[in-house]
Amino acid sequence: MAEPNRSFSGSDPDALEEKYRLERDRRRRVDRTSIHDLRSDDRFGRYRKDPFTPFTERDPVSKDCEVAIVGAGMGGTVVAARLSEQGIEDLCLLDEAGGFGGTWYWNRYPGVMCDIESTIYMPMLEEMRKTPSTRYAFGEEIREHFEAIADRYALRPASLFHTRVERTEWNEGGARWEITTDRGDRIRARFVIMAVGMLNLMKLPAIPGMERFEGHAFHTARWDYDYTGGGPGDWDELPGLHDKRVALIGTGSSGIQCVPPLAASAEQLYVFQRTPSAIGVRDNRPIPKDFATDLAPGWQAARMDNFAKTMLALPTDEDLIDDGWTRYYAPLLTPRVDYSRPLEEIMRQIAAIDHGVMDAHRDRVDAIVSDRGKAEILKPYYRYLCKRPCFHDEYLPAMDRDNVTLVDCPDGVEEITPDGLVANGTKYTVDCIVYATGFESESTPFQRRAGHPIVGRKGIDMEAKWRDGVRSLHGLMTSGFPNFFTMPNPYQQAVVTVTHTHVTVECADHIAKTLGAMHAKGVQAFDVTPEAEEAWTAEIVSKALDRSSFTEGCTPSRFNGEGSTEPANPRNGSYGGSAGDLFGYRALLADWRERGDFAGLEILPRAEDLAASD
Ligand code: NAP
Repeated sequence: MAEPNRSFSGSDPDALEEKYRLERDRRRRVDRTSIHDLRSDDRFGRYRKDPFTPFTERDPVSKDCEVAIVGAGMGGTVVAARLSEQGIEDLCLLDEAGGFGGTWYWNRYPGVMCDIESTIYMPMLEEMRKTPSTRYAFGEEIREHFEAIADRYALRPASLFHTRVERTEWNEGGARWEITTDRGDRIRARFVIMAVGMLNLMKLPAIPGMERFEGHAFHTARWDYDYTGGGPGDWDELPGLHDKRVALIGTGSSGIQCVPPLAASAEQLYVFQRTPSAIGVRDNRPIPKDFATDLAPGWQAARMDNFAKTMLALPTDEDLIDDGWTRYYAPLLTPRVDYSRPLEEIMRQIAAIDHGVMDAHRDRVDAIVSDRGKAEILKPYYRYLCKRPCFHDEYLPAMDRDNVTLVDCPDGVEEITPDGLVANGTKYTVDCIVYATGFESESTPFQRRAGHPIVGRKGIDMEAKWRDGVRSLHGLMTSGFPNFFTMPNPYQQAVVTVTHTHVTVECADHIAKTLGAMHAKGVQAFDVTPEAEEAWTAEIVSKALDRSSFTEGCTPSRFNGEGSTEPANPRNGSYGGSAGDLFGYRALLADWRERGDFAGLEILPRAEDLAASD
């Protein structure tokens, strides 16, 4: 692939921008936000069923614990491990899934992998004495890593799986959180940590007629290996598809990863593409077993820092990761341009970098895909940060196969019939439809992602409290909800990092140390003061950048509300603005802990006093 930061070589950048506008407008025509709400629409409830772990009946559980953690994905597992390192082991984890791993529990589709380097994506590698087998780990290895963390920290006996929380409510009198579930459980916890995840709600587009489809259909986040054959991590052969015509809807990160195995097994694969992804080089390779042998303790944190610094254009001796993220994404996330120049010239310089990056991606399509018709359809025409980039080396070659038909449908799939799909007025008869249509975006309000009412002091509901925007301290606690933490989320006043693992491990560490310090001092209850919350929210708002002039020019995507022109709520921002100031945030949290006075919190020695103070 050509050098990324070369300038655009085309003779007419204005013509290219005009092409971007035309392509954007072709995709703006549809109602892109119309989805089936899988939680409330019974007709589609089956799409959520867990195909991986059999459901087992059990008696309802009624118990007290020190900390209840809602969610046993990356956030829940890591914060639980860190709490146990602080000596807080009386935990209860709850999850709708049948095991640990969150997104890696559910997403077991053929080809599933992580395109962030495993050495910085998989948390707690040093504690677990784990060297990932490849530079970009496949899903099973990541999921098994979370299972291994759970075993090492004895989290399994504390966990209730296939258990959906129905209500979390602060009990004023008992000064405890009370959690009720769909299994009839009643958990009373002094502290609650919400680790509900961010891309946790499957998105099923409301395509007319889909309920009438008589073939087989499922979402990538619930892969049906009983139908396709093969199994998680075992997808070289999907024998159930040998005589099947398969439709794949969606060409984001999940869709492109499952194309090569589908193309190798299906009789015929129809790929319905609304917007092409930018597909950069992945260059996966084995990691030597002795990779970490000579590295000093703390190497993983240092490597994560190195990646974050590179992304934020902070000084580093070396780019240790040196991949598509650091070569392509970083120059656009934090462009190294001469900011002393007039704004128009700065914008021109940034546009030139962007055009160069996207040109390199379009050239890559030309270099790999020999079918000229398909190659044209696969070329992305928009600015690089408009959509989440993808990295893959087998997707484009697979698209060249004779048994793969690429359907260019900027309007999306129009209709689903009992035996097929209609796009651009053409009918495609298929046996099976795979929805690789993704998830509700990171900007989905917290309570929707949590999926149940969370009721704090004086009966205040979290949904009502954050309806007009988030109010928090550090993006992790909020006034009126005593003894309550949420794990960080991009639109929730914590900080963003390019790999979500980084902010997750930092905040898990902070929450566990804070609770450890509270234990040491005999603190049993806290609430955030309204003043501290106001101050933090004001800090977030002060750094909020209005990015609408950029996103308005973008092709519709989840990063711009699918083409919405509504301005973003400045309260739903990130510490340090849009790229996030991870290092400032981390220093601030460390300083807050070191001072030891729990600034901004109302501390009461006994939980009962908190109830009495209302
Ligand atoms: P996604 O990126 O949101 O992609 C969904 C795809 O479905 C898009 O191509 C979308 O088209 C298409 N689509 C939606 N509705 C449609 C309709 N009605 N007709 C036709 N096409 C339709 O979802 P995803 O691929 O599951 O990825 C979600 C996120 O998960 C990623 O962005 C990433 O953050 C994470 N992920 C990460 C990895 C990794 O390697 N680290 C792997 C997988 C997923 P448009 O593009 O036009 O919207």
